[in-house]
Amino acid sequence: IAALDGKVALVTGGSRGIGEAVALRLAEDGADVVVTYLGSAERAEAVAAKITAMGRRGWAVRADSADPEAVRAVVEAVAERFGRLDILVNNAGVGHMGPIEETGLADIDRVLEVNVRAPYLFAKAAVAHLTEGGRIVTIGSCMAKRAAFGGGSLYATSKAAMIGLTKSLARELGPRGITVNVIHPGPIDTELNPADGPGADFQSGFTAVGGFGRPSDIAATIAHLAGAEGRYITGAEIAVDGGFAG
Ligand code: NDP
Repeated sequence: IAALDGKVALVTGGSRGIGEAVALRLAEDGADVVVTYLGSAERAEAVAAKITAMGRRGWAVRADSADPEAVRAVVEAVAERFGRLDILVNNAGVGHMGPIEETGLADIDRVLEVNVRAPYLFAKAAVAHLTEGGRIVTIGSCMAKRAAFGGGSLYATSKAAMIGLTKSLARELGPRGITVNVIHPGPIDTELNPADGPGADFQSGFTAVGGFGRPSDIAATIAHLAGAEGRYITGAEIAVDGGFAG
């Protein structure tokens, strides 16, 4: 029996990057997995098809994290279709870099809507369905822990908010046997932050290991948190960052 047999997971932003790796790993470990996406319909469908090919139930749903009604609706749709929800992975996020003088109201609203309001609303909607053994894992960032360089004020603000959400919710949901944790990735090779991009060597220089991580590094830690062996880990910030913030 696989570790997550019978569990249902919702991974936001599961069409590519870290979210895709997490979705496939949770399915490999036995879970049925729903992924949300914004624009990458074909890629999200391909992820769902891979999950189905593994013998699990996979489902790709377009749900703009910036739209509160879409967030609510997708959680309800998962609960209705699968009859339960066990694992929420708040992964969908947008990046932003730039000096504060050049950061406009539209940037601020967009980043806070997707990176802060949406994880809050996903958690709120999920809590209605999570039961004993339930899991909420949110993707923060090493930039919430260490400002190694300037230009990250908006992004770091959004990711630091996930620490407060995680710690407070862990207290609130602990008595129900539900754990809540935040993972702070370091530079991870995705389309958001390619390991061969112009800023890659610069970022690698701030890590202890001298290089980028892979999406599967984040997925492995989430798999541990999601399984039975993660039962005593809650309210925790877990760095998977190659030593970036250490
Ligand atoms: P990618 O840009 O590669 O993937 C982002 C994913 O989020 C896609 O599936 C995308 O969907 C989805 N998404 C973005 N906006 C929305 C939205 N409004 N509604 C629904 N889905 C949305 O990013 P990464 O995989 O690199 O990052 C994943 C998470 O990890 C983010 O929260 C990011 O901030 C965080 N992170 C990443 C690091 C890195 O170095 N890569 C480091 C630290 C944290 P679609 O394909 O449809 O656009």
